[in-house]
Amino acid sequence: MKASGEFAIIEQYFKQQTTSEPDVILGIGDDCALVELNSVQAISVDTSIAGRHFPPDANAYDIAWRALHVALSDLAAMGATARFFTLALTLADAQPHWLAEFSKGLFAAAESANVCLIGGDTTKAIDNALSITVQVHGRITDKAWRRDGAKIGDYIYVTGSLGDAAAGLDVYQRNRQSLQPELLTAYLRPKAELDWVNVLQGKVNAAIDISDGFLADLQHVLTASAVGACIDIDALPLSQALTSYVDTEQAIQWALSGGDDYKLCITSSCEPAQMPEGLSCVGKITENLALELKNLPADTVLDKNGFNHFA
Ligand code: ADP
Ligand code: MG
Repeated sequence: MKASGEFAIIEQYFKQQTTSEPDVILGIGDDCALVELNSVQAISVDTSIAGRHFPPDANAYDIAWRALHVALSDLAAMGATARFFTLALTLADAQPHWLAEFSKGLFAAAESANVCLIGGDTTKAIDNALSITVQVHGRITDKAWRRDGAKIGDYIYVTGSLGDAAAGLDVYQRNRQSLQPELLTAYLRPKAELDWVNVLQGKVNAAIDISDGFLADLQHVLTASAVGACIDIDALPLSQALTSYVDTEQAIQWALSGGDDYKLCITSSCEPAQMPEGLSCVGKITENLALELKNLPADTVLDKNGFNHFA
């Protein structure tokens, strides 16, 4: 990419959001962004690579939306309020139409989560693999929701429904896009569960976002907290779209082990009656260090390990 090309791209496609975030003193355009902070910050970075994290032929709008929301999901999982982000983009080429769609998806996602883009880096790929790195910054207003906070006797809750994204990937791979738009959207356009941050403030002992599969991610909480769990399979939230797409065994398998849902799993000492609507209580934290599954259909095949890049 020529220097002039690089700067024209930044100017045209990325320097377009006006920030209402009072702590941002200087955004895109100088050697650094400048922010003034007076609270605990939550910071996380995620890379999305074509062919590994999303289909290389997905449309640019969805790719951008997904890359930002996947990164923002970690802020939700920490109980943080999203504020701003940076974007490191490594492009195979610079097609104006692709960049325009990417930029549209990116800023739509940014607006949906009320975050602003304050800087980044734009480079040309050598091996043609599109790579998108998003660093997100959030504010902890109350107490951070750490993985090591689960207490024996806590109720385990999940937001929304599980398994839809794994089903959406299946839909995409089988080319059934027009038949299952809901499942497809769950996979291609996940939405970080940031709306739960305020609603659940003060009620959460531990939390994680479900990116690699419910069992695998729950296990991270159990390990960090040195506790076990008992999960009731009958209590898993399965969407109507999922159960009408596949049989119960497959739906349960995707709900337990499918990746990419980006829902939250939280533990809380509050009983279900004290919790807001939209959460499903799926089990309890136990002293016994095992992860026990109640009511699992006999022939369900499970992957408890989740996705692991170098495994
Ligand atoms: P430097 O050479 O000083 O590191 P760059 O030339 O890489 O700066 O970038 C110029 C400005 O544009 C910087 O403010 C940088 O943060 C911003 N920027 C570069 N690429 C992007 C991008 N993809 N999205 C948002 N801001 C970007
Ligand atoms: Mg510089």
